[in-house]
Amino acid sequence: MAFTIAVDGPAASGKGTISKALARELGFAHLDTGLLYRAVGRKVLDGVDPLEAAQALLAEDLENDALRTPEVAQAASKVAVLGDVRAALVDFQRAFARRAGGAVLDGRDIGTVICPEAEVKLFVTASAEVRAERRFRELSEKGIETSFDEVLADVRARDERDMGRAEAPLKPAEDAVHIDTSRLDVDAAFQAALAAVREKQEAQS
Ligand code: C5P
Repeated sequence: MAFTIAVDGPAASGKGTISKALARELGFAHLDTGLLYRAVGRKVLDGVDPLEAAQALLAEDLENDALRTPEVAQAASKVAVLGDVRAALVDFQRAFARRAGGAVLDGRDIGTVICPEAEVKLFVTASAEVRAERRFRELSEKGIETSFDEVLADVRARDERDMGRAEAPLKPAEDAVHIDTSRLDVDAAFQAALAAVREKQEAQS
């Protein structure tokens, strides 16, 4: 049976960690939709036309550690404002969402545009400072040289672009459950998300 969990929120809010943990707990498939935009952004940095890059995207393009850099994140949020690029990525995401056995998708527009019919919608947030601190730690652990101030500026620039764009802006679905992870540890955030899913599953059974 199909069961879709849509998890949206800004960069480094904890939505990826929550999504992975939910998928593991429930035995669902997981798609980090940010990787689609990052893979397109990476190709655009290499000189490829954005729409051509989106139309030619392959599953193996997503398995690339080089997609996790701040440079690629900015390129991703720039291609993500383009309506034709977004449209080219819709079918793949919708098919993934309705696969048998359940799916968790995380991104910016999953509950609002890609899967407005998702059984569960979560909107995961945290203050810009907390998110920048987390991202700064992650990047430092990977040996990527940067400063907290640079990461905070990067997070704010992406927030502004993602929330301000005309096409599928980052915003919570009306019926989304909000989880603010600013003061929650990973397990508490996961438990809040799992409780929202269990409530829906019980209501359905
Ligand atoms: O989630 P992540 O930080 O990897 O996403 C990179 C960029 O891709 C975001 O800043 C956003 O502009 C874009 N994106 C999007 N819609 C999604 C997922 C990501 O516009 N569903």
